[in-house]
Amino acid sequence: MNSDSRTMGEGRVKPRATRARRAMADCPHCDEPGIIRSSEMVTPLHRDFYFTCSNPRCGHSWKAQMSFVHTISQPSQPRDGLNLPISPARSAHNGDPPRMPKTAA
Ligand SMILES: [Zn+2]
Repeated sequence: MNSDSRTMGEGRVKPRATRARRAMADCPHCDEPGIIRSSEMVTPLHRDFYFTCSNPRCGHSWKAQMSFVHTISQPSQPRDGLNLPISPARSAHNGDPPRMPKTAA
């Protein structure tokens, strides 16, 4: 996720409740960033997000889903009963997450 929206210069922390929640999904029609309007926990490992396109001339809104796939680094305080398997790539990469593929910009 983008960490720049959490901290502002000089170490000030922007309150979570007032910051715009931009995210993980650009509009599939115009490629402008999507803004999360609401989200709903379906299960502890699955969440639905409702987006609106930040481009006022576009007007697209959509639902997206996020599912946790696997653990990359073990938590210090695991939740009882939560079954999130260890990444199969973890051993192949000596504990490091897989490298991001290079994309043409
Ligand atoms: Zn759009």
